[in-house]
Amino acid sequence: LVVLLNLFRDQLDRYGEIDTIAGNWRRALQTLPATSTVVFNADDPAIAGLTEHLPARVIGFGLNDTRHAVAAATHIADSQFCQTCGHRYHYRHIFYAHIGHYTCPHCGRHRPDPQIALTALEPRGLDGSELQIRHPVGQLQIHLPLPGLYNAQNALAATAAALALGIAPTTIGAALTTFQAAFGRIERITAGPNGPPMLIALIKNPVGASETVRMLTATTTRPLHLLIAINDRFADGTDVSWLWDADFEPLAGRVARVTVSGTRAADMALRLDYAGVDGAAITVIDDLPTALDTALVALPVGETLAVLPTYTAMLDLRAEIARRGWAKPFWET
Ligand SMILES: [Zn+2]
Repeated sequence: LVVLLNLFRDQLDRYGEIDTIAGNWRRALQTLPATSTVVFNADDPAIAGLTEHLPARVIGFGLNDTRHAVAAATHIADSQFCQTCGHRYHYRHIFYAHIGHYTCPHCGRHRPDPQIALTALEPRGLDGSELQIRHPVGQLQIHLPLPGLYNAQNALAATAAALALGIAPTTIGAALTTFQAAFGRIERITAGPNGPPMLIALIKNPVGASETVRMLTATTTRPLHLLIAINDRFADGTDVSWLWDADFEPLAGRVARVTVSGTRAADMALRLDYAGVDGAAITVIDDLPTALDTALVALPVGETLAVLPTYTAMLDLRAEIARRGWAKPFWET
């Protein structure tokens, strides 16, 4: 069983351009025997195009709740052109980047109708979402304890994969309802006994960072308190130009205070400045433990500190939190 979620630019210096990756994946998928199954995201044209004419069984999943479409095309769409004839896709609905309902006006290639469809997605703030999933033999109603459109799509993919394996829908629903995120992926930690709550959400590429910003700004109308930590070590990608491809613009006018840290703190502060975040709300502190203390001291009672670290900054932060006894080391969680 192979599950294909989406294909976006991510750490180009390490992984290469997405056309290269798509070509590698296509060759790998063609070697799969007819006894295997490929579960794929019908809303991503780059992914859907990989699943045509395969010996393996293919099962598409997709978002049918078009209330979550965005008004305008985003500038970080990576796969905008038809794989058959090269014309630009027409999108009836875009959810983010190049994910949506697409048709080629020239040759008619279009989004395949998904067998597993997310027919209703009701956000419930930071507590998660209510999902209604239609599958070939019925409906599934799930409370997913993770916020954000992309987490709903991940849960949809997991549901499709589990159904393909013959797992009972009730078992799938129960598993997703009690799901806990891997460390640093929308993880909630309290800063000590009776301390304020923190929400840690890893960011590492343009689409992921943009959707995390969208999740934070969509789940509350209150001013945000942020700690953003950007490193440029090997595991983060040494090229931080991705910060300029990510949409931090929705933060303009929404931030009470943002503490910026990490080896590329100054780059991030400059990015926030160009995004329109009030300069008086931005504090740059290179040292991460000091930045964490500063952000927590400034946090008003009743508010949550949203922490957005890159991968190695998240490991550093996790180590610091474990040292303080606020959480177990990540390898014990
Ligand atoms: Zn075409």
